[in-house]
Amino acid sequence: MSREIQENPSDESPTDKVFTCKICGKPFLWTTGEQLYYQDRGLNPPRRCRACRQRRKLVTGGGADG
Ligand SMILES: [Zn+2]
Repeated sequence: MSREIQENPSDESPTDKVFTCKICGKPFLWTTGEQLYYQDRGLNPPRRCRACRQRRKLVTGGGADG
């Protein structure tokens, strides 16, 4: 039997995560502060980097995300 090391999710301390932007394909950092912000509002993790989000905001005039 092999054992897998599993961390207790409830005991998990937030760390900065790296995501790949769906638009430009570049890796971007999802900071702990942003994670808490998203968690607090029940939002899904971001799929676009900050630059692309801002660009989209400019194009759509700050409409709904998606
Ligand atoms: Zn991007």
